[in-house]
Amino acid sequence: MRLDKFICKSTELTRSEAKKLLKLGAVRVNGEVTRDAALQVHENNSITLEGVELTARQSRYIMMHKPQNTICSNVDELYPSLLHYIDVDRAFDMHIAGRLDADTTGLVLVTDDGRWSHNIISPKKSCPKVYRVGLRDPLKACTAEKFEQGVQLQGEANLTRPAKLEQLSEQEVLLTITEGKYHQVKRMFAAVGNKVVELHREKIGEVALGDLPEGQWRYLTDEEVESFQ
Ligand code: URA
Repeated sequence: MRLDKFICKSTELTRSEAKKLLKLGAVRVNGEVTRDAALQVHENNSITLEGVELTARQSRYIMMHKPQNTICSNVDELYPSLLHYIDVDRAFDMHIAGRLDADTTGLVLVTDDGRWSHNIISPKKSCPKVYRVGLRDPLKACTAEKFEQGVQLQGEANLTRPAKLEQLSEQEVLLTITEGKYHQVKRMFAAVGNKVVELHREKIGEVALGDLPEGQWRYLTDEEVESFQ
């Protein structure tokens, strides 16, 4: 990672404070004074700030059961950020890997490791997400096939990627999608003349929400973290 980022990760300093100290010659990499904020450094480099050895803080990986009327943003808006529920130091230094709407409940992954969350969010990675969907109208027989072939969402250049639909009851389905367009599930059902009345995310990749109660969070296991690498 960049030297200025490493300094921020291992201290309470902001990026601009780290850059100032670099300019002042307060940072040494492997014994040499270094002023290059963009220098790529690794964990096995010896990095000191004013003579004190720095060690990068461990990244954090958390799952949370998002309640309704919370938002997946780092700032409060009409509803509070769900980061308020995560009672760890510097909770607002983390970000949410794959946002849900304010009225959607279920699994969200929260981290301060941008490279890891890229594996979840990037369309190139095709990470599957499973949603339990409550519908206003009974599911039409042709919907599964339409979703398998892709539907046209308003304002989008391409059809949606093939999505898997499993019917649970007349008005409840499980839907697996591998992309994350804005309001995607709601827009997919709107495209076939139905309406989503309840939306809940059960799974991202191999990681399932399980029986974690609403509003609660827990750290991911090493195996869960590694499943996205
Ligand atoms: N699709 C939606 O429409 N809303 C969400 O919150 C997630 C996926």
